[in-house]
Amino acid sequence: MQFPQALETVLQTLERMRDESAHRPCASRSALNALNRVAPLPASDNVRETKIDMEVAKDPKKTEKLAAVQTRVSACIKCPNLASSRTQTVFGVGNPDAEIMFIGEAPGADEDAQGEPFVGRAGQLLTKIIKAMGFAREEVYIANILKCRPDVPAGSFGNRPPTPREMQTCRPYLMEQIDIIKPKVIVALGAVAVEGLLGTRAPMRELRGRWNSFNGTPLMITYHPAYLLRNQSPSEKRKVWEDMMLVLERLDKLISEKQRNYFL
Ligand code: SF4
Repeated sequence: MQFPQALETVLQTLERMRDESAHRPCASRSALNALNRVAPLPASDNVRETKIDMEVAKDPKKTEKLAAVQTRVSACIKCPNLASSRTQTVFGVGNPDAEIMFIGEAPGADEDAQGEPFVGRAGQLLTKIIKAMGFAREEVYIANILKCRPDVPAGSFGNRPPTPREMQTCRPYLMEQIDIIKPKVIVALGAVAVEGLLGTRAPMRELRGRWNSFNGTPLMITYHPAYLLRNQSPSEKRKVWEDMMLVLERLDKLISEKQRNYFL
C-alpha cells in the first residue's frame, strides 16, 4: 500500500473511532505531533487535509494522584485568613503528562470565582502564548504558588501579592504537583513565582531569559502575562516570546520561521 493510502486508512479509522465511541481515540503527544506533521499532504496526493484531533494521553495514575492532592487542598485551612476569605481553592489545570508546567503567583478575583488558574485577561494572554508555541492549553499544566486568593480589605479592589509565609505554607502542595507531573520544563511567570520556587529576589530584567534548575528540572523565568498587559511595549513582549523559544528549543521542538518572527 502506498503511503498516502495508508495514511488515509489511518485517518478514516481514527475518525470512525471518534464518531462511534464514547471515548475519543487517545495518542501520545509525540505520535500526535508526528501525525499532524504528515497529515496536511498536498492535494496532488489525493489525501484529505485532516487535522488529527484527539485527546492527549493521560496517565490514570497521575490523574488519581493529583486528584488526591486536590482533595486535601480543597479542605486546607493552614492559612485561616485565606481559607475564610476564598470562594474556593484554585488547584491547577491541564495535562498530568505535560511537558511544560507554567507557574504563576496566586489566584486573582476571576480565578477565585471560577476555580481555575489564569482565566482572566492575563490568563487569556498566557493561553495565546501557549498556542503560539504550538500547544493547546489542555496539553500543558498551569498552576500557582498559592492555591487561595490572597485576601484584600473589604471594599478594596485588585490583588495583593502572597506573603513569604503564605508561599512557604502552600509550597508543599506545588511540590507534590511537580513531583507527580514531572514536567520536562518549568516556566516561572513573574518575580513572585521565582521567589516561591527558588527563594530568589531580584529584578525581573536580571532574572528572565535564563535557565535555572528546580530539583533537577530546567526552569525558565519570564515575565508574568499581567506585566505585559500593563506594559504593552513590543520589546517587552518580544522578550517573553524569546524566552518561550528557548523553552521550545530545550524540548527539541522544531521552530518555524513564522514562530521565529512572531510577536505576541
Ligand atoms: S494558601 Fe495553600 S496552605 Fe494556605 S489555606 Fe490555601 S491551600 Fe492551604
